[in-house]
Order: sequence, then structure tokens, then C-alpha cells
Amino acid sequence: MEKEKVLIVKYGEIAMRGNNRKLFVTKLVNAIRKNIDSEGDFYVVREQGRLIVESRKGEMDTERLIPKINRIFGILGVCPGIRLKDKNIENIEKAALEYFNKYRESEKTFKVLTKRSDKQYPMISNEVSAEIGAYILENCKDIKVDVHKPEMTLTVEIRNDAYIFSKFYEGCGGLPYGSSGKAVSLISGGIDSPVATWMMAKRGVEVSGVYFHSPPYTGERAKEKVKDLGRILSEYTGVFKLYSVPFTELQLYLLENVPEDKLTIFLKRAMMYAAQKIAYKEHADGLVTGESVGQVASQTMQGINAINAVCTMPVLRPLSGMDKQEIVDMARKIGTFETSILPYEDCCTIFVAKHPETRPKTSVINKIEKRLDKLQDIIDKAVDEAEIFEL
Ligand code: ATP
Ligand code: MG
Repeated sequence: MEKEKVLIVKYGEIAMRGNNRKLFVTKLVNAIRKNIDSEGDFYVVREQGRLIVESRKGEMDTERLIPKINRIFGILGVCPGIRLKDKNIENIEKAALEYFNKYRESEKTFKVLTKRSDKQYPMISNEVSAEIGAYILENCKDIKVDVHKPEMTLTVEIRNDAYIFSKFYEGCGGLPYGSSGKAVSLISGGIDSPVATWMMAKRGVEVSGVYFHSPPYTGERAKEKVKDLGRILSEYTGVFKLYSVPFTELQLYLLENVPEDKLTIFLKRAMMYAAQKIAYKEHADGLVTGESVGQVASQTMQGINAINAVCTMPVLRPLSGMDKQEIVDMARKIGTFETSILPYEDCCTIFVAKHPETRPKTSVINKIEKRLDKLQDIIDKAVDEAEIFEL
């Protein structure tokens, strides 16, 4: 009996209908190959509505492979199982029994669930389930069928080949990375912005990061921390491109030329100008920030309005309606939290006012900015001097 241990990878089919579907599936195949390449010699093959990972040598450490696959955006989850080239019902029955005996632990109830995408197959799904269920019952002691709440569901899928599995390991979901266009994400070293970046990447947006630092007021270690965050994000996205933009001259210029209580607003606007310039270079169509309404002084609606007023492209703020605790939980889940809380200085916290304005008037800010005749040149220079890292 020819059967092989394989991983059956499920992806979000509904979101991927239409012309782009082939492209999305290719992206998933490439991402899987890349993520498991270091683990051995594997093929990824396309099945109807599934991707199948198989080993060239027959060995497969599923515990190591599954988390690496489940980290890929667009993947719903992975089922370790077996594949049968011979779809004859007697062959499936025997394999199902063997699988059942091997993977059954203390379960006392089961059901067989059949999905048949091979419409030429001579039996319908319910007939296959009934036949296999009966065969298992005949050959196993202390086991009952429970169709409503079975302790074990044995799934049989009849596609180009037949597959048997019982466990499902849930993946990230979302859309294949790069399938929803491009954006530039403003990444500080804090907790919020890496989470915001991850969330947009999960929706298929290809993101490049921009980090603003002000040496010598912010140190090399603060920059390394942001690079480390970029590396963590790259475990999901493949590579992560990070621009590190020197903002010292700009911050000193603002310090001399704008009222102290408005420094933060002007700094944030300058960040937006710079990020947009990078977005044009990257052929990106939007920005991403980690702003969350009400979290800090500059994140009142009036503050966000005054910052947003300089943006000509959409600014995605996926955390805007989230509480801090929810963001922290997510940061832990995706693995950025421990790095984010390392205590290095942040350019937003140097030269800040004791009492920053919390309800700035956009018209007033715009008026003051008109007098800042060197502002755009300083921003251009900073962008030109950016270091670029491929992480
Ligand atoms: P975070 O946790 O992401 O640092 P925060 O709660 O500290 O955010 P702010 O300081 O108001 O909030 O920053 C709001 C957003 O502005 C950040 O989420 C990020 O997108 C962007 N930002 C702030 N500082 C920087 C920086 N030094 N470099 C790049 N982007 C920044
Ligand atoms: Mg911060």
C-alpha cells in the first residue's frame, strides 16, 4: 500500500478568488519553500485548493515544520496526515484504520468526515464516510460513532490523491504577503508600531519600515533594537527593508523655531513628510503608524488631525481602536514584546515639552509651519542620508 506522510496546508480560498489567485498561490508556495528550506529536502505541490508538503527522503519533523508554515500570511492552518495515490475505497479504508490506530490516544468516540473535490469519484462523500466508519467500528474495540461531538474527527479528502488526517494546527490567516500593494511603516522602538506593521503585513501589504533617530541623543543600541524588531518581522515577511533616517538636524531646527509645547506635533509632521518621500521612492501607496486614539498627548483626535494634515497618502492606523493591553497581548503573540520593552532612548522623548499641547489647532500649526523655510530641505537631506537595511 503506497502512502506517504505529508503536511496538508489550507489557505484562505474565499479571499483568493479571481484573477490573482494563481499569483497568490505561487507566493504561498515560495514562502513555504523559503521558511522550511533549512529543515530538509521538501517539495511543495499544488492540490485542488490545498498545498501539500512532502519530503524527498520520507522523513518529516512536523513539530518543527508546522510553526514555520503557520507563520506565513494567507495560511489558515496545517494538518499532518497521509496521502494515498490509490484512491480505491478498500485502500482508503485500510489506511484510515491504520491511521486511526496509530494516532488514537484515549478517544472513545469518533466520526469520519469526507470532502470530495474529485467529482468523478464513484461514491459521494456520505457514502465514503459511512463505509470507512463502519470498517473502523468492525475492527476496533471500545469505540463509538458520535456525529455531533466526536472526540476524534477523521477527515478524508478525495482530491487528485486521497488524504487522511485528524489534527488541525491553526495558522496566521490573512492574505499572502505582497498581495495587497505596498506601504511604508513608521517604526519606533516601542511596543505599538511593530504590531501595527505586522497587522498590515498580515492583510497582504508589503511594508518597508522607517525609523527616525537622533544621534548622539539616541544611541546605536536604540537603532540595533529597531533592526532586531525588523528581523522579527522578517520571520513573517521573508525580508524586511528598513530605512534609518537621521533626524538630529531637524529636531534641533524645530527646537529653535517652534513653540516648545508644539514640538511633538511638528516632529510627527516631519516624520510624515519624510515617510511619504520614502513611500514615493518605494512606489508605495500609503503609510502605517502605531497610533492608538487617546494613548498619549499627541494622539487626541485634534493631535492626529494636525499630524495627518500634511499627508497626501492614506495613513493606516490599525491600532487606532485598540486598548494598550490588547496591543501588548498581540506583541507577545507575534514575538516583538520582549525586544520592544528594552529601555533605550527614543527621539520622541528628547527635547519634549513638559506640557505638550494636547489639542493643537491644525490652522495654527500650518501657519507656524509656513515660517519654517528650511524645513523641507532639512527633511530631504535626512531622507537622502538614510541608511537602508535588508533584514
Ligand atoms: P510606539 O509604541 O510605536 O513607539 P507610542 O505609543 O510611543 O508608539 P508615539 O510616540 O505617539 O506613540 O508614536 C506614534 C507613532 O509614530 C508610532 O507608533 C510610530 O508609528 C511613529 N513614530 C514615533 N516615533 C518614531 C520614530 N522614532 N521612528 C519612526 N516612527 C516613529
Ligand atoms: Mg514610542
